[in-house]
Amino acid sequence: MAGTSEPEVFGARTIQELVALMEKKDGLRIIGGGTATDELPKRCVPSRNVKELKSFEKWDRHFTFGPAMTLAEIEDIGRKNLPALLSDAVKTIGNRALRNAATLGGNIFSMMDDGHARTLFAPLLALDARFEFIRGSDIRNETRTVPILKLKEFAAEEMKWKWILSKIKIPNEDWELAIFRKLGPQREFGESSASFAFLADIQDRTLSTVRIAFAGKIILRSAEFENSLTGLPLPLDGNAVRSAVERGGKMFDEESRASGIENDEIARTQFTNLLRYSLEQLAQP
Ligand SMILES: Cc1cc2nc3c(=O)[nH]c(=O)nc-3n(C[C@H](O)[C@H](O)[C@H](O)COP(=O)(O)OP(=O)(O)OC[C@H]3O[C@@H](n4cnc5c(N)ncnc54)[C@H](O)[C@@H]3O)c2cc1C
Repeated sequence: MAGTSEPEVFGARTIQELVALMEKKDGLRIIGGGTATDELPKRCVPSRNVKELKSFEKWDRHFTFGPAMTLAEIEDIGRKNLPALLSDAVKTIGNRALRNAATLGGNIFSMMDDGHARTLFAPLLALDARFEFIRGSDIRNETRTVPILKLKEFAAEEMKWKWILSKIKIPNEDWELAIFRKLGPQREFGESSASFAFLADIQDRTLSTVRIAFAGKIILRSAEFENSLTGLPLPLDGNAVRSAVERGGKMFDEESRASGIENDEIARTQFTNLLRYSLEQLAQP
């Protein structure tokens, strides 16, 4: 029969319409700007017309971002009204034309297709982002909140049960130091792409909080490692920096082994160099 391989594209304008559509159509996939692939899924619904999925709010304690916001819309909010890490990271993705189409949800969920985290994952990991999902049931809608470290597992095991990402919540916190670096090809995404994010806060001349995230083929964030740095007196001395970088390298090796990924020497060197650079910013009087 002619035309059977054409994708079926559905439409929804409200979250309730999307929930109902998801319930009715098996195998329906949500798509954002469609910039990550050349081929649409067989059955899909674009998120961009669903108004609730495009909203942004800034509260005293947190930000919420709709997953259908384009990267350009996030960029236009401006650095002073956004977590600095997210603002710095968004600007490094493609060019402005790409960012006009590409969405936040698409950037995060692309990794569910190939296991390789995209540019925004490390900043969101360092920022402790939480993901809110919604789905319909016979009686009423259900919701579920998933912390970023559990997102991959949730997507693999639960999303087939018609959960829809409704918002991304990020705590609104002030940081003394926020460093983002994109690794691999600039302005595009490739095999060696990865991101590094570092946050630090200072109280009474000690390092009161530190968060370190790396995401590419390997995803790295360790509460144990961060806790080992918390409370160090500032400015950091050379020994403290050297010892932390050495332990950071070991942590990278352990995580590579644990995730069954062959140790990538280039990524490891990039990670330890950026860790050293970030800690050295705290070694200055
Ligand atoms: C020239 C060029 C440069 C690029 N540069 C970069 C770069 O620097 N860094 C980078 O990270 N990427 C880059 N990309 C890849 C891609 O464009 C981005 O990752 C983009 O953010 C993907 O978003 P999208 O909305 O287009 O995703 P889509 O293509 O629409 O979707 C990608 C995947 O996510 C799923 N998805 C989308 N939205 C949702 C949702 N709301 N809920 C659940 N699942 C969803 C889709 O089903 C699909 O599986 C580049 C691409 C091009 C063509």
